[in-house]
Amino acid sequence: VTLARLHAHVARTGWAFGVDFGARDSCTVGGMVATNAGGMRVVRHGSMRAQVLGVEAVLGDATVVRSLDGLVKDNTGYHLAGLLCGSEGTLGVVTAARLRLVPEPPDRVVVLAALPAVEVAVELAARLRSTVDGLDALEVILAGGLGLVCDELDLPRPFPAEPPVALLAEWAGAGDPPPSFLDAFDGVDTVAATDQPGRLRLWRYREDMALAIARVGLPHKLDVTLPLGRLAAFCDAVAGSVPSGGRLHLFGHLGDGNLHVNVTGVDPDDEALDEAVLRLVVSLGGSISAEHGIGRAKARWLHLQRSSEELAAMRAVKQALDPHGILNPGALLG
Ligand SMILES: Cc1cc2nc3c(=O)[nH]c(=O)nc-3n(C[C@H](O)[C@H](O)[C@H](O)COP(=O)(O)OP(=O)(O)OC[C@H]3O[C@@H](n4cnc5c(N)ncnc54)[C@H](O)[C@@H]3O)c2cc1C
Repeated sequence: VTLARLHAHVARTGWAFGVDFGARDSCTVGGMVATNAGGMRVVRHGSMRAQVLGVEAVLGDATVVRSLDGLVKDNTGYHLAGLLCGSEGTLGVVTAARLRLVPEPPDRVVVLAALPAVEVAVELAARLRSTVDGLDALEVILAGGLGLVCDELDLPRPFPAEPPVALLAEWAGAGDPPPSFLDAFDGVDTVAATDQPGRLRLWRYREDMALAIARVGLPHKLDVTLPLGRLAAFCDAVAGSVPSGGRLHLFGHLGDGNLHVNVTGVDPDDEALDEAVLRLVVSLGGSISAEHGIGRAKARWLHLQRSSEELAAMRAVKQALDPHGILNPGALLG
């Protein structure tokens, strides 16, 4: 079941599923559980782990574990469904999931704002998060990304000049957004939309970033989280990790402190760049994988984030559920 199919199915009931992102037409519920997928609604509903009430999965020794009752409260030991979220296919093959639904708000407002600096965006994000009931998304495009997406995909420029930071905020609820939502943008250059075609037009600037970047070259892709208070320092410092000839692209889910760091124009095999960025992230108290996971490509750097004790515990779990090591060998734990 793809995410798009899940959304369409759930919409017929008047409810909604709280996870959404650009790969909705191809990614599957099993893959989303396996990667603990995030996306643009995490700021409101949390990532996949928060939506999964139960799973059915086949473990490495062919045992089928099944817990699909969907009880809100069930403290009867280890939460296997939670354990499988983010396991990247290394512990079991997910064959069914029981998912939490959320109410579908009838009204939405999207605001795209031009801001002068990352610090200003972080401050605005903190204010929106703490004062706006119904904040549904809080995204960011930095480092010339807005111009890039306009050029590559032939989109109209939303502002007369390229702003250093473009922040996209969405409110969802019934009726009009609370004054705190609109007041937050006082004195800021904005474009807003309430109707669906207008909202989708604004979302394209953010959602088509990966497509636009792919058109300028094969990128090094890193997906990191920073504590919000250190996001600006990271943005300043990360440019120093990019070798000459490289082009830095920064965008992501500001509400979660999650930045996608893409660099084009650098040899895909040059791992020094990836390592420098990941070490910078760790030095600032962040995470080397916000939502894309570790896979094989980043397995050699997992030790930057996880202690040897944690890695040993993770290996013990892997050994217990996949004793022959046949499930996604080499991924996550290397
Ligand atoms: C344009 C674009 C935008 C994206 N945006 C986001 C985003 O905002 N947030 C985000 O989190 N991700 C994003 N992604 C990444 C990705 O699409 C998601 O992480 C998604 O959850 C992967 O699901 P999939 O079905 O495509 O899995 P795959 O990519 O096929 O597999 C991913 C991992 O899950 C394992 N797996 C797959 N199915 C199962 C199963 N049934 N049981 C056990 N293991 C399984 C695989 O072995 C692999 O390790 C984006 C990708 C693209 C292309």
